[in-house]
Amino acid sequence: MRLVVDLNKCQGYAQCAFLAPDVFTMHGEESLVYNPRVAEDQRQGLARAVAACPVQAITADGLDGAAEPTAESAREASHGS
Ligand code: SF4
Repeated sequence: MRLVVDLNKCQGYAQCAFLAPDVFTMHGEESLVYNPRVAEDQRQGLARAVAACPVQAITADGLDGAAEPTAESAREASHGS
């Protein structure tokens, strides 16, 4: 998956760095560094970061279906009861 952050929009709220620390890192108070090529296993964290960004600065390709339960999350859910 590929991702782009519109750094003109980004306000450095660091929600993304909190939710997907392997993808987004804060350098200093407001400077965001990110990996534009995201591994499959980061999909869920990335989807959360996209949803959580208060200014919708994150655009990601190939996130379709991220809201669908994956085999992994289905397994987690079945442990829950
Ligand atoms: S959550 Fe959005 S505004 Fe905050 S650092 Fe990430 S991209 Fe920037």
